[in-house]
Amino acid sequence: MQSNNVAYQFPVRPRPLKNESVEGYILRLGAMNGRNTKNRIADIVGIRLTDSMYEVGNPRYRTLIESLSKTIRLEANQLDNFFVRLSFPLTDNDRFIQNIKLDAPRVCSTCCSHDESRYIKQDWHLAHHTHCDVHQVRLIEKCPCCQYPLQSTAAILNGCSKCGLQWEDYCALPTEVPIYQKVFQSLSQVEQADYISVLYKALVIISRPYDCAYEPLRKVPFSSTDIVYQLNQAFAFLTSKQFQNKLYKMRKDKLLADEKLLFLSKKQIDNLVLLPQIKRPIYLMQHISRMVCAPIEDNGFINKPREKFLVNGTEYCYQVSKNTAASLLQLDIKSIDYLMDSNRINFVRQKGSTTGAFIHLFEIDLFIKMLTNTVKIKRHVGDVDNLISMEKLRKGLKFFNADLTKLISILIDNPIQLYYCSPVVTISFNELYVDRDDITSLLEEQFIPSFNEQVSNTKIREMCFLNKEQYSALKVKFKLTDIDVKYKYSFVSPKKLTTFFTKYMLLNRWVKIHDVKLKSLIKYLETQPDLIRNLLVNEHNIVLYENTEKLKKALNRFLILTSDEPQKLIAFCF
Ligand SMILES: [Zn+2]
Ligand SMILES: [Zn+2]
Repeated sequence: MQSNNVAYQFPVRPRPLKNESVEGYILRLGAMNGRNTKNRIADIVGIRLTDSMYEVGNPRYRTLIESLSKTIRLEANQLDNFFVRLSFPLTDNDRFIQNIKLDAPRVCSTCCSHDESRYIKQDWHLAHHTHCDVHQVRLIEKCPCCQYPLQSTAAILNGCSKCGLQWEDYCALPTEVPIYQKVFQSLSQVEQADYISVLYKALVIISRPYDCAYEPLRKVPFSSTDIVYQLNQAFAFLTSKQFQNKLYKMRKDKLLADEKLLFLSKKQIDNLVLLPQIKRPIYLMQHISRMVCAPIEDNGFINKPREKFLVNGTEYCYQVSKNTAASLLQLDIKSIDYLMDSNRINFVRQKGSTTGAFIHLFEIDLFIKMLTNTVKIKRHVGDVDNLISMEKLRKGLKFFNADLTKLISILIDNPIQLYYCSPVVTISFNELYVDRDDITSLLEEQFIPSFNEQVSNTKIREMCFLNKEQYSALKVKFKLTDIDVKYKYSFVSPKKLTTFFTKYMLLNRWVKIHDVKLKSLIKYLETQPDLIRNLLVNEHNIVLYENTEKLKKALNRFLILTSDEPQKLIAFCF
């Protein structure tokens, strides 16, 4: 009687053949022992069979070899010696198509018509290996008779499991092995790995010619477009400048002619149509061609999440990455994240990426429209209008302890008048204008609350427009001691900072923000009798006043005086 710890064995124990794949060997072993499915084969081997086990060199492969060797009375190392390691990984996260192994192998019907060559070769599993180079025929991936896709079962060695067609009864037509496959076979191992990565990148590019957000695919997707045709196109893309130009022109013509994209400037379209860079390898130089395979077929190879995101009949070409959205709007990634997180724009996360996402181009347009709902167009810009462009304003945000995201949220949350200063309305954030006083008071409102978070000494000094000596004098005088040091930054207690900026008005900061002269302001304030006793410090060129309503009024009066607007002054005084 067989005890539980005695392993099962296959009664018929063939050895692997030249260049036979691990998976193919298992299927053949099953076929010879009357076990057609992988599950029935696994019953004997004693472990669950998974895809990663079939890749020589994979840690799981070793587990398989250990178990399998016992069932065929062979040392594990001897069994291992039969199998050849590929020159590149089957799965590579840096590759445009990460996993290039097909779900079920293809077969050469001619090879499989004879007993001595009826086995699955390692190459037949690879998406780019489409032809048998011994018989010069195309490998079969679906039954030529009933069109049923081949399955990874032992039956595959003999024929179609659906309609019963036997390979020996089928005569494949000889055809030339395509150039992309011949080139692969002519390369060294190092070159092969590199070639695989550029070829599949090209395959993704030509498979969705209008995409503006090329992202990697996990597997070769199922497609109605012939893979041989697509691979030929990919090779042409790699080797022919004419082909690349044609594709570029196609993209450009389509996007330029698209009425839905009129909100984009010509320059923005130009940036969108740029194709991803591919470095053309040296070994392809001898294949440089003037090939222009026509037509370029769009089969929209995109990942499932993006497919689901194609709302209301929109096309994949309208989806852009976060980076592209940021550069079109001239915002940073953090602001885009804010817009996404606060549901201001719809998006879909990129599969297999923690930070990547796709956004519809229309969403970008809608966002700017929301922001500029009642935008006014001004002819002249400058001191007269007291307008400041976002481009200039964002440089000054650090003086309010704010960033671009903060500015965006202020613009969204407050009904503030925005202006365009040219008749051409664009989606560029930088080209929006806003009244300097309006935005300054809104930014100032969030200045003190912003100390909820720790701010480094360096940052505070920058915000206050003080040099090192001035700043340390101020710190000593008001006991703004450090509470924390992280890396090279030291921090003042947020609570103390809040108290300090609530109680006092540092004129050094105030004059910079309002773009006026400190000297003339001091001179003016000195003429205001009420304020003299509020002056707290006037040394080291630091001017600090107690923050009172009277002071605020005086400062406002000063602004109006210096801005040379007597009408405003009259309005203010009465
Ligand atoms: Zn063959
Ligand atoms: Zn069939």
